[in-house]
Amino acid sequence: MSYESALAARLVPYVPGEQPKGRKLIKLNTNEHPYGPSPRVKQAMDEAMARLRLYPDAEATALREAIAQVNGLRPEQVFCGNGSDEVLAFAFAAFFSGKKLYAPSITYSFYPVYADLFGVMYEPVPLHDDFTVDVESLCQGGPVVLANPNAPTSLFLDMQAIEKLAAYTKEKGEVLLVDEAYAAFAPDNARRLLDRYENLLIVRTFSKSHGLAGLRVGYAMGSPELIASLRKVRDSFNSYPLDCLAQAGAREAMLDVAWTEETVGKICQTRDRCIARLRQKNVPVFDSATNFLFVKADATDAKHVQEALRERGILVRYFSGNVLCRYLRISVGTDEEMDRMTDALLDILGKT
Ligand code: PMP
Repeated sequence: MSYESALAARLVPYVPGEQPKGRKLIKLNTNEHPYGPSPRVKQAMDEAMARLRLYPDAEATALREAIAQVNGLRPEQVFCGNGSDEVLAFAFAAFFSGKKLYAPSITYSFYPVYADLFGVMYEPVPLHDDFTVDVESLCQGGPVVLANPNAPTSLFLDMQAIEKLAAYTKEKGEVLLVDEAYAAFAPDNARRLLDRYENLLIVRTFSKSHGLAGLRVGYAMGSPELIASLRKVRDSFNSYPLDCLAQAGAREAMLDVAWTEETVGKICQTRDRCIARLRQKNVPVFDSATNFLFVKADATDAKHVQEALRERGILVRYFSGNVLCRYLRISVGTDEEMDRMTDALLDILGKT
């Protein structure tokens, strides 16, 4: 006998990458930032400790102002939540419940989980053979969600294509949700389209580009109408998703633009150097506009490569499933970590 509701019984939850305990591993499995947040974050959080007795600002006003300022928006165009995962969840509830939602067939695997939780009919649309997004086929009359750059393929879709999706969904009276978790590592982003498409919602995170995965802060940018709908869902669930330490730390991280630019630049350099070295040895790697590499590590199943790397103390991400199982997703760490990963991978693949 089970006490679960029919809803809970139906759920197949998302499984996040491993956070290892004990043995020291080179951790390249969850796309974390190798250098950590701006040094200014700690002082801001120390100061916020004095306010722990009080409930936090439910609207995260100072943080939203900082995000708005850096992105050339008004604060009422910004919404903050407990990691971009939570912001995505609120968006699914606010804009997609009861509807048919179109998404690329290979993308962030949390989307179908939220769809199930919030009564969304999730329609995966096959990618082209080269794993690029089939924009035409996403235009089927309903709302659309996609990650750009996409995960785990690491591929970037240009703004012409994103604008086409924004215009199409706008005409249909639906929302286009663009998950820009990795946009800081890409050549462009959809920010400027917000000025023309009130149906466009962009979701970003402090976890990848700002070195704050442990703090759990994400945000959405969109028209005041869309932001108001997200607030409505939030206030039907949890009025205070962001504690006062998270608000203070994330604000400082957002305002320290120089730190973000410098460390993101370093990560991109390491990434490109590592891709060049793997390609030189004929290891197939996708072009990456993210802080991770998508590597074809075996013609049939790359599980054994992941395990061999783990035995050598290097953690990378493997996805089961009949297409993805040939690939490994490898986060970009420091130069030294990537050199050790590359040496080990080439050795395992017999390509030294
Ligand atoms: N979107 C994408 C595409 C991701 O890969 C991730 C990281 N798992 C997230 C959103 C969620 O990031 P977070 O909740 O840490 O902000």
